[in-house]
Amino acid sequence: FFIALEGGDGAGKSTQAEALAEWIRGKGHEVVVTREPGATPLGKRLRSIVLDVSSAGLSDRAEALLYAADRAEHVESVVRPALERGAVVITDRYIDSSVAYQGAGRDLSPSEIARISRWATGGLVPHLTVLLDISPETARERFTEAPDRLESESSEFHQRVRAGFLALAAADPARYLVVDAGQEAESVTGVVRHRLDQVLPL
Ligand code: C5P
Repeated sequence: FFIALEGGDGAGKSTQAEALAEWIRGKGHEVVVTREPGATPLGKRLRSIVLDVSSAGLSDRAEALLYAADRAEHVESVVRPALERGAVVITDRYIDSSVAYQGAGRDLSPSEIARISRWATGGLVPHLTVLLDISPETARERFTEAPDRLESESSEFHQRVRAGFLALAAADPARYLVVDAGQEAESVTGVVRHRLDQVLPL
C-alpha cells in the first residue's frame, strides 16, 4: 500500500509520516518511510544541487528534470522493492510536488510535468495521497532553519504552489484526503488515521 504526503514547506509532512508509520507498525505491518528529493545516493546529490542557493538561475526545465531523475531512482531502488515485498510505503513528497512547484509555481505546463513523472515512475500512482494544506504565512512561522532556495521564493510563488496542490486533489477526490494542516499535529494524525482505517487492507 502506497501513501504519499504532499503539501507546502512547513505543513508537517515529516512529522505526520513518522506518526502514521508508528501507528501502522503497531498493527503489525512493515512500513518504509521515505522522501523526495534525496532518499537515494543519487538523490542526495541531486537534492544538494536543487536546494543550494548557489543554484539560483537554474533553468526551469532543467530543475524539473532533476526532480524527475531523483524520483525515477527513488521508485526503482526504494519504493517498488518495498511495495513488492508487501510493505506499506509512506513518501514525504511525490509527483504532486513536481506538478505544484515546477508546474504551478514555475511557468511550466502542469500536464507536461505530470507526464514526465509518469514516465519516470513507470506509472506508479499512490493508493492515497494526503494533502496537508496550509497557508504559506502560517507555514513560514514554523521554519526553524535558514530557508533553502525554494523556501526563499516569493509568497506569490507559494500561493501558486498551494493552489496547484488543491487543484490536483479536487480533480481526483477519491484518491485524495485534504487535511487542514494548521491544526495541532495530533488532530491531523487523527484525521488521516480515520481515512486509513477505511482504506488500508489491514
Ligand atoms: O520537503 P523538503 O524540505 O525535503 O523539500 C525540499 C525542498 O524542495 C522544499 O523547499 C520544496 O519546496 C522543494 N521541492 C520542489 N519541487 C519538488 C520537490 C521539492 O521545489 N518537486
